[in-house]
Formats: sequence, structure tokens, C-alpha cells
Amino acid sequence: MYIKCRGLIIKQADSGEKGKLLTILTENRGVVYAKAAGGKNVGASYFRCVQLFTYCDFHFYSGYNPSVLTILDAQYIRSFFEISKDIERFSLASYCAELCKISLVGGEEDGELLKLLLNTFHTIEKDNYPTDHVKAVYETRLCALLGYTPFLEECDCCGISLPDENVATYFDIDQSAVRCGDCVNTVKTLGPVIKMPAAVYRSFLHTVICEKDALFKFKTDEETLKDFAEISEKNVLRRLEYEPKSLPLYKSFRLGF
Ligand SMILES: [Zn+2]
Repeated sequence: MYIKCRGLIIKQADSGEKGKLLTILTENRGVVYAKAAGGKNVGASYFRCVQLFTYCDFHFYSGYNPSVLTILDAQYIRSFFEISKDIERFSLASYCAELCKISLVGGEEDGELLKLLLNTFHTIEKDNYPTDHVKAVYETRLCALLGYTPFLEECDCCGISLPDENVATYFDIDQSAVRCGDCVNTVKTLGPVIKMPAAVYRSFLHTVICEKDALFKFKTDEETLKDFAEISEKNVLRRLEYEPKSLPLYKSFRLGF
């Protein structure tokens, strides 16, 4: 069977001496695995198309083993190769790709996760924002796309509008919901419950409700970004119930070790 679809290569491994085994996030078939025979050969017709973080139209053959496709041909669309030149940005892109892949296990993909990842890679490549900002926005928007939109309208216990100038706002990771300072002291939770200053609240709200084109386009001060990043990361890992292998790597490079 022949299959044509558009996709982004999110992981690569060797397959034999000259071939590659690629993990590709596709527009309408979720994550697929595909062999590129001779993919390491500079002379291969599709050499440029079978590089990590490259976006292409692929032409596959599905044979006796349908879980691994064979690439017959590919048309190049664009590459995010520039990301690979900086280890911190490269490890962030790898982390985002891993979260995307895990989110799709056993699920359908309607193309929105691929669009989010392309948008995120584009932003990482441009390098106009701190990596933690890109990471936090990606994590929270990914949750929203997966149906885990954080509950931000009001305190999930007493219903008071938040943020409120008379009472502090908190975010309950277990419930993925905001809670007022009064209820935090009286309601039992699996937590953790983290204080959410108004600027952090606005960052979350923007990330969840804004148009795609405006997704990353806001600035935060250092303190706000620190809180936004902490809550976003804890929230996405709690929703996915998964510890990404690439996360410690990203953190070690971000801190410059
Ligand atoms: Zn309350």
C-alpha cells in the first residue's frame, strides 16, 4: 500500500550502516516510524529530506510490517536545522517533540498538534524569547489542545472571581484549577498548590485563549517567567503522567553545566 502525507521528523536513529529509522509526526496519521534506506548517503535523492527536524511531503510504502513504513520519495518543504546549532535550543526542541509524541500514543491527530509543534520550532529557531518562555507556552497550549484546559475562570471551590485584589490566587496542579487564598487553607488536595501572582495568571490566560499567531507574543519579567515555567511544567507532567527523558537534559544545558 502506498501512502502520501506531510510530516515533521522528530527523531532519528541508525538503521544498518547507511540507513535511518525516523520518527515522523504526520499531519493526519499521528506518529509513524519509517525507514530511509541509504538515508545517511549524501548522494541519496532524498538526503536533504530525511534530516532531523525537517518538514516534508513523504511518499511511503507500507509492506509486510505495517508498523514501520518505507520512504520511497520525499519533497522538501522546510528545515529547522538552525536549532541544532545551539545545544540549549536543540534540547528544548527535543523535549517538545517528545511531549508531542507521548500525547499521541493511542490517540488521533487532527493536525493541530503538528501545527503547534511547527509554530514552536519556528519560535525556537527565531530565538526572540527565553527558552523557558517558549517551553511554558508550549506546555500549557499542548494541555489545552489535548482537552486539559486549566480552569481559570474562578476559584474552583467558592466561585469568587480571580485574580482578586483582596485575596491571593493559587493554582492546584492536581485539579488544574485556580483557587483563592481562603479556600487553599480549608480544602484538602493532592496538590501541589502554587501561588499564582496576577501576571502569571495573565500569562496562562493568554496562552489558553489567544489566536495561534499571537501564542508566544507576550513578555514577562524574570520573576513571572520563573513562576509561569514552574506551574506549566508541573501541570503538563501531571496531565500526561509521564517523565520525559529529554527534560533533565534541557535543564542541564539551560543552566550551562
Ligand atoms: Zn475560594
